[in-house]
Formats: sequence, structure tokens, C-alpha cells
Amino acid sequence: TRIPLVAGNWKMNFDHLEATYFVQKLAWLLRDARFEYKRCEVALFPAFTALRSVQVLVESEKLNITYGAQSVSVTTQGAFTGDVSADMLTRLGCSYVIVGHSERRKYHPEDDANIVDQVRAVLAADMIPILCVGESYEERRQGIELDFAVSQVRDVTRDLSDEEAAKLIIAYEPVWAIGTGMVATPQSAQEAAKAIRDDLTGSFGAKVGNAVRILYGGSVTSGNAAQLIGEADVDGFLIGGASLDVDELAKIARLT
Ligand code: 13P
Repeated sequence: TRIPLVAGNWKMNFDHLEATYFVQKLAWLLRDARFEYKRCEVALFPAFTALRSVQVLVESEKLNITYGAQSVSVTTQGAFTGDVSADMLTRLGCSYVIVGHSERRKYHPEDDANIVDQVRAVLAADMIPILCVGESYEERRQGIELDFAVSQVRDVTRDLSDEEAAKLIIAYEPVWAIGTGMVATPQSAQEAAKAIRDDLTGSFGAKVGNAVRILYGGSVTSGNAAQLIGEADVDGFLIGGASLDVDELAKIARLT
């Protein structure tokens, strides 16, 4: 069985002091057996500058919170000004790295080849990639959203071994739903998650298809989370805006 994951993508918000305050309050709000026994996992994705502070707090207090980075370099070390390597993130206790978020695809030269290399770098450093896919409004209008999301997953996972593929987390985040308040219906989130899972099963077998956690992202709030998580193939959420409000994030985690 797949443990539900509630992942808060902070994007470019919160400096290390704000992050510290947030983590303390979140840990206090989630101080009960449900999280201690990992019936639901909560992960945070701070900016690089806050990772060390989050690590110190999580490790010293033994908090039931995991965390990761929002992107990573495809190279391991050397003359790459401004980049951060996967090994550096592992050393900071990161469990995950978000890869191929639509904002990275849009504002940085991240194409499929680069995203494949990021996935490899993350796996090689013993972390788990959270691969983001999802159609824009245009593809949805044309009715090709399922094919689009499935082929985005396929393009990145094509050369992975079964063992590598089994480690992935996929986040289905339709671009038109990100930051717009227009959440996908539970049915369409389920349809996309199922299409992605069926395709993974076709490529890598049922064991992989059943293992991979598939998250929904795009205008998730405590008002719509319960319905979405009720769908069979939706295993949690990647949350932007609502993850900046600690009470709201804790509420979503409780519903998940
Ligand atoms: P919102 O939850 O703000 O729509 O953002 C979703 C997202 O991009 C998470 O990665």
C-alpha cells in the first residue's frame, strides 16, 4: 500500500528564519500518532537557503517531517556557477527533489533531456525524484490532456530500469490549475493519475505501477483535498499556495 504524501512546495518563499518558525509550528500541530506511525507523510520543499535550518531542526527534534529541494544540477561538481549538486542535497538530509516543475520548464532551460539527467542525478544520490507533468490549458481544450501527461512521463522514464522507476513519485499538475484557484475535478485528477499508472504498468510491470505514488497538484486547499484523496489513484498532493499557511497545510495533512 502506498503511504499518502502531502508535499508543500514553497517555491521562492520563506527565508531560513520563517522556515524555522513554520517547521516548529507544523510539528506542533501534527504531534500525534497518525504522523508518528506514518499513516500520512508530510514533506516540505524550502528554498536552498533554508534547507540547512530545516535539517538542524528536524534532526535535533527528531520530527516526523521529511523535506527536499525544488531543483538540482545535472552535474556532480565543478565550474557550474550558481548550481547545487545532488550530493550536497543528500548531505543536507533531503529525501526528495522536485524535478521538471512547470515553472522550471518555463523560466529555465529545462527540457526533457535536462529533466532525465536531473532524475538520474537524484537517484544516484539516493534521493527520490518527484517528477512533475501536466498539460496546459491549450492541450486540455484540444482534449489531449491524458496523452500529453502520459507522454511527458514516458519521455523521462524511457531509459530507467524497473528498480529506478519503482522509486519515482509523479506529480500530475495541470498548468492551468497552478496558482489559479481552478482545481481539477476529482474525476479528472483520477483519470490522469490512472492513465499515468496504467502506462507505467505497461512499461515496467504491475509491481512498479502499484508502487509509484502519484500526487495531484494545482490549487489544492483544505476545501477540496478530501474529495481528491478519495480517488483510488491519487496518493497525495503537491501544494503551492496553501502550503505557505501552516494551519491550512496541517488541515490538509489531517484530511489525507
Ligand atoms: P498551487 O497549489 O499554488 O496551485 O501550486 C501548485 C504547485 O505548483 C505545486 O508545485
